[in-house]
Amino acid sequence: MDPIIAGNWKMNKDPAQSRSLVQNLLELIGDVKNREVILIPPFTSLPIVAEVIRNSNLKLGAQNMYWERSGAYTGEISGLFLKSLGCDYVVIGHSERRHIMGETDEMLNKKLKTALEIGLIAIFCVGETENEKEEGRTEQVISRQLRQGLKDIGNEAHKIIFAYEPVWAIGTGKTATPQQVVDVHKFIRAQLKKKSTILYGGSVKPENVDTLMHEQEIEGVLVGGASLKPESFARIIKFAGHLTSTVK
Ligand code: PEP
Repeated sequence: MDPIIAGNWKMNKDPAQSRSLVQNLLELIGDVKNREVILIPPFTSLPIVAEVIRNSNLKLGAQNMYWERSGAYTGEISGLFLKSLGCDYVVIGHSERRHIMGETDEMLNKKLKTALEIGLIAIFCVGETENEKEEGRTEQVISRQLRQGLKDIGNEAHKIIFAYEPVWAIGTGKTATPQQVVDVHKFIRAQLKKKSTILYGGSVKPENVDTLMHEQEIEGVLVGGASLKPESFARIIKFAGHLTSTVK
């Protein structure tokens, strides 16, 4: 599988700004090969981004979805609607959804099951807070997030992409060291029955992407802030790492 470079724009970029960001990015990267590049704009920009990337090999993802397919759930978005807009991927359990919106492991488990049922590839985020890290509870927290998030999913779990995103590294400029990431990725791998793809996220930038991507354990990155600028995201996409040679 090609390394994955996913850009989560969070609640940034209206449709006009989204169009210009993607047009600029495409000019910088050309026809990307040997990378699965996923753009994850806000819901309101999905149609425009889908239109701009139509003739490229960039992929589309959404930042969240609801676990029911349709019905009286005001303000929620069905995964089926995301598919109809051209999404292949959906982020589930981003730390901002867990910690700001109060999404629980049980809710995320329902979302993962629905994503699997309807054929969206879930990018399932796990990671510890700063306090949990300082208390030496990283493995305990991640093991709970995996156990409860994957409850009754069993053999299907390898269809999910996992993203280790330590909460203390998201949007803070603090990046986990490659060794810290490798240790946690190995721990996650040991909890899963079959081989799964595992990404790292947390202040990934042009300056640190090559070092991270030199580690065999890191199969891609989930990028927030640095995906909002075409130059920095293009540089991240063109990383030099262990999986492929640098894209020219
Ligand atoms: C993210 O939003 O998943 C993320 C990792 O953000 P940032 O790269 O800004 O830390």
